[in-house]
Amino acid sequence: MALDFLAHPGSGAPSGRAAGGAVGPAPLALRQTFSRLGPEFLSDSPPQGLPEPRLRLVSEDAARLLGVRPPSPDDARDAEACASWAHSFSGNAAAADGSAISTVYAGHQFGNWAGQLGDGRAHLLGEAPAPDAAQACGHAWWEVQLKGAGRTPFSRHADGRAVLRSSLREFLCSEAMWHLGVPTTRALCLVDSDLPVRRERIESAAVVARLSPSFLRFGHFEHFSHSGRHEALRKLLDYTVARLQPEAAQAANPALALLSKVAAATAQLVARWQCVGFVHGVMNTDNMSMLGWTIDYGPFGFVDAFDPGYTPNTTDAYGRYAWARQPAVARWNLLALAQALLPLIGDEQAARDAVEEFAEHFMPAMRDGMQAKLGLGPARADDPDLVQDWIDLLAACRADWTVSHRQLAHWVAHPQAGAPAALRRQFAAWPQRLDDWLERLQRRLGELDAAQRAARAAAMLLANPCYVLRHHLGQAAIAQAQAGDFGAARRLQQVLRRPYEEQPGCEDLAEAPPADAGPPVLSCSS
Ligand code: AMP
Ligand code: MG
Repeated sequence: MALDFLAHPGSGAPSGRAAGGAVGPAPLALRQTFSRLGPEFLSDSPPQGLPEPRLRLVSEDAARLLGVRPPSPDDARDAEACASWAHSFSGNAAAADGSAISTVYAGHQFGNWAGQLGDGRAHLLGEAPAPDAAQACGHAWWEVQLKGAGRTPFSRHADGRAVLRSSLREFLCSEAMWHLGVPTTRALCLVDSDLPVRRERIESAAVVARLSPSFLRFGHFEHFSHSGRHEALRKLLDYTVARLQPEAAQAANPALALLSKVAAATAQLVARWQCVGFVHGVMNTDNMSMLGWTIDYGPFGFVDAFDPGYTPNTTDAYGRYAWARQPAVARWNLLALAQALLPLIGDEQAARDAVEEFAEHFMPAMRDGMQAKLGLGPARADDPDLVQDWIDLLAACRADWTVSHRQLAHWVAHPQAGAPAALRRQFAAWPQRLDDWLERLQRRLGELDAAQRAARAAAMLLANPCYVLRHHLGQAAIAQAQAGDFGAARRLQQVLRRPYEEQPGCEDLAEAPPADAGPPVLSCSS
């Protein structure tokens, strides 16, 4: 299909909605490659779209990945272009042309085999060329997928919709994560509508247009493996290798080579999650990307008051997906992928060994991440104790993960000024333990001269964000947006583009939530 978007008026391209609903001077041509695999893998699935869609949020950064300049929902001069984007990214444009597809996958949910799932509310519009392959991690295209544009053959008993609340969280968080340096699917724009959607109460519908080089999940492989369709499994492997890991095609055992790559990428991903205090919340195998990118933002959260057992997901009563368990769960999920690929790998021990590459990559990535966060430079023998004691201290004091690390960087820059009040506040429960630990860090950094120490502190500021998408900030933006005002959401979006830079006037977005706020929790309903 061709996506009918208009170039930004400022780009010099003519704008205007042509007769018959076809719009735009420079439609973005999308092609489908997955559909070539055949009907066993997908369903042609026209989106239902949204009545009277409104373009509410756009990511200029994500649009740039496609080589387009987006219109601004705030700018009256862009009204026509906004209508065109709303038409395209609500699914209304694709409703008529039959080019969208939904794919079938399965998965393990909370450790149990869940059987067939599939894109119950996701429509793949196709793939657009990526003008800058480096931004797409070397891939030459971006897949464009709508989430919430209506029912598909895989919707089971659900409505195929996404509510504004959860769409806003996905939009804001996926862009924020990218700017934090965490691999993730991107969010191009958010379109909403007055269409009522029933959850715990009646809410309104929205659609997020997402970009990724691939939306393939572990669950895609599990689906064909568990149903014994090994020919289809091989077809899917060949497609995935050719698209995502072409060098694995040369390996003696391409399925094994792919598994190794996915294990390594997943390890890097989870180490990044741990370091920024991100808890995915639903690490089911159907929510694990074959690229090793963050995918499917549901009941996620950033740890505020640090508790290793924190999970934002209220349905996760046993904390299976808590912060501290994410690495072990990722490995478990990789074992599920290995099991699915076993008919193609053929050697169980080799498959197990490939999964163990997770630990081989995770351990050093996590170690390096924490060394950078604490300004320690290359690891020394005693550093693991220093790091572990810091984490234990954060937990004992329920210190805010983000504030504590950021303030630690300030202290490393100016130790003579004493621990900043904002740091001390986080450790009010055990002030002496903080002082003792800081003294150890001071001794560890003692050999640095002033210039080296300043450089170390500056590097710490690039490893410890000042801003993350805190739950209470997201909730405030949602409440406003539900009343039709996207100002707070746009402000958050802008500030979170530069999470490692303190931005004057945005102090309120850097603060820990009020002490009595309690740990943020969310249900799966979205
Ligand atoms: P999730 O927990 O959001 O990853 O979703 C698990 C499965 O349920 C996936 O197959 C989703 O596509 C599907 N799903 C979730 N919400 C809906 C919905 N509102 N309508 C249709 N399918 C849904
Ligand atoms: Mg999902």
